[in-house]
Amino acid sequence: MAHVITYHDTRGTDRSHPTFSDVVVAGIAPGGGLYVPDALPSLSLEEILAYATLPYWQRAADLFSRFGVDVEAGRVAALMRDAYGSQWADPRIAPVTEVVAGTHVLELWHGPTSAFKDMALQCMPLFFSEAIAAKQAVGTLAEDFLILVATSGDTGKAALDGFADRPHTGIVVFYPAEGVSDLQRKQMVTQAGDNVGVFGVRGNFDDCQNAVKAAFGDEGFSAELREHHDLLLSSANSINWGRLLPQIAYYVSAYADLVTSGGVVAGRPMDVCVPTGNFGNILGAYYAKRIGVPIGRLICAANENRVLADFIATGVYDISERDFVTTPSPSMDILISSNLERQLYELTRDAERTAGWMASLRAEGRFTVDRETFHHVREHFAADSVTNDESLACIRRVCGEYGYLLDPHTAVAWEVAERLRDVNPVLVVSTAHWAKFGTDVYKALRGIPYADALPADVASLTGVQLLAEVQRMAPEGACAPRALAELDDAAERFTGVVDAGREGIEGAVREWLARD
Ligand SMILES: *Cc1c(COP(=O)(O)O)cnc(C)c1O
Repeated sequence: MAHVITYHDTRGTDRSHPTFSDVVVAGIAPGGGLYVPDALPSLSLEEILAYATLPYWQRAADLFSRFGVDVEAGRVAALMRDAYGSQWADPRIAPVTEVVAGTHVLELWHGPTSAFKDMALQCMPLFFSEAIAAKQAVGTLAEDFLILVATSGDTGKAALDGFADRPHTGIVVFYPAEGVSDLQRKQMVTQAGDNVGVFGVRGNFDDCQNAVKAAFGDEGFSAELREHHDLLLSSANSINWGRLLPQIAYYVSAYADLVTSGGVVAGRPMDVCVPTGNFGNILGAYYAKRIGVPIGRLICAANENRVLADFIATGVYDISERDFVTTPSPSMDILISSNLERQLYELTRDAERTAGWMASLRAEGRFTVDRETFHHVREHFAADSVTNDESLACIRRVCGEYGYLLDPHTAVAWEVAERLRDVNPVLVVSTAHWAKFGTDVYKALRGIPYADALPADVASLTGVQLLAEVQRMAPEGACAPRALAELDDAAERFTGVVDAGREGIEGAVREWLARD
């Protein structure tokens, strides 16, 4: 370990100077703040461009080492080889494709679950598991960890796959029984691994999330798990620094690849356009810019849940009178964008102000940043939002014009990139394979409005059969990933459905712990 960088938190509470391993295990800081590194590395243009000659796992390992992780370099390399290995459908891991002159797509969905969460969740659980083992070895920790996840679809599968058979961890995922697609459900309930569990919850995603939160808040339940099972609870959610750090690596990687392909002149800036929900992905781009990657504008692309786009336009973050809208890009359907706190802290380095904004958000459902902070926001960010039908029309248009099939999340970014494009080449960040959202891609290609139902003969198909229909309309070469196309034949391991509410969740966990 050449140099170790320690951490502090965005609300100025934790004074213990935790290391990378400490903050990965802790997740959130004691006062509710988010961990940020005390110092950032700096990469020269030459060092960035050198990534182009390395396999992806070495790019990620190099970045981690520069960020001063307290894991020995040889071990970082070994874990990265595992994280970004043969489970990826493309050996380049995060390739950049030029779809039309000046517009490049960073494909983050070649992982085992076909969505961008894999970029972090194939990596973070390895470091999490490693950190627990290290702490147990020196006697500062006695327990293993149980991860509980409430999911509306994507995250649950990516977390299951990432944590499956990782030592010292178990994971139980809860999904709304009425709220996920046939394909998403099958992806989860067929998950392999001895340390995984999956339950449906009677109700919608809110019911499911509230129930899991209630279980986290139940001290009696925590004590029971600790005393009888030697387990501590964790959520491993997207505010964990261990999920953010891997998301910086692919922006360094993409710039190096873009220079190599001639998409940008070395040293000249690229703009990035990111379909944004919790602000984790675009925050990775911000950190990449801070450490030296020539990035011009960070363009935040929102769907009809446009709270972030409005914030970047006005400096006011306001959910007090905002209704939650259902969209074809459900992974961006978020009102409280949890990583924004980290961004505001990094722009101000002022824990007191940051804590104040967050307190105001909790109390009044809104906050307004000061002029100086707003100026910093505008210095780096641009934003726009796209309606449901605009995003579907974009899928159809790009498919017709360029023979490239976008998923509905990426379509939001593509549309915004087209509207806001300037002189710089644009990196459109693609966060899911189209096959994960077959129903809405079908509507897009057939010109069916988002609010309309599918024709009855199509609505009765399984998720996999629908993919075959989409593929018939898709450009040549657009092919559903094997793991998705074979789901109708995979054995369903988890059939349990429980009541919403704390007791339903806790009962499910007890049942799962008693399995043989
Ligand atoms: C999670 C997710 C997003 C949003 O990413 P954030 O880091 O939360 O902003 C966008 N698209 C897809 C497909 C996702 O799964």
